[in-house]
Amino acid sequence: MNVSPRWIICEHCDSLFESVPLAKRQKAECSRCGAVLERSRRLSVQALFALAITAALLFVFANAFPVVIISMEGLSNEATLWKSVEALAQGRITPMAAVTGLTIILAPMLQIALLCWLLGFANVGRAAPGFKACMRALEHLRPWSMLEVCLLGILVAIVKLAGMLNVSPGMGLWALGMLCVLLILISGKGIRRLWDDLEGQIR
Ligand SMILES: [Zn+2]
Repeated sequence: MNVSPRWIICEHCDSLFESVPLAKRQKAECSRCGAVLERSRRLSVQALFALAITAALLFVFANAFPVVIISMEGLSNEATLWKSVEALAQGRITPMAAVTGLTIILAPMLQIALLCWLLGFANVGRAAPGFKACMRALEHLRPWSMLEVCLLGILVAIVKLAGMLNVSPGMGLWALGMLCVLLILISGKGIRRLWDDLEGQIR
C-alpha cells in the first residue's frame, strides 16, 4: 500500500519535515531553530472530552461565583466577571466594557462550546457537523480569549488593594485559575490532532 508521508511545518522558521511516529514522552524538535514541532500524545480523545466538560463546569462556576470579595468596616462587596463588565459599561470608558466582555466571557464561552461539540463527536469516532468551520473558528478565537490576562489582572488588584482593604479571593477566582490551565491544555495543539484522527471522515 502506498502511504503518502505526513508533513509537518515548523511554525517558527517554516522548515518542512516528514513526521515520524513518536513514542511516549518523546518530542520532535526542529533541526534548524530548535523549536518543538510535536510531542507524543499524552491524552486520549476521551480524556480531552472529559477535560472539555470540566472546563464548561468551571466556566459556569467562574461566572456564577464572585472572583473577589472586598470588605471594610463591616461593609462587604463582591465582584463577579459580569459585574466587572457592567461596572466598566457605566464608567467613562464604555468601549472597554465591550472588549472586556468579548475577551473574558464571550470568546472563552464559544471556545468551550466548540471544544465540547468537536470532542463529543470525536469521542464516538465521528467528525462533528461543520467540523472544518468549527476548527477554523477555534483557531481564530484563541487570540481573543484572554482569561489568563484577566486572572493576572485580578491577582495584581488583590495584592495592590490588600494594603488598604480586606480583600479575599472568591470561589470564582479558583475556578478561573483552573479553567485557564485546562483551556491551554485542550485548545491549541491538543485539538489539532483531530485533523489526523478523523481523516477520511471530514467532509
Ligand atoms: Zn524551526
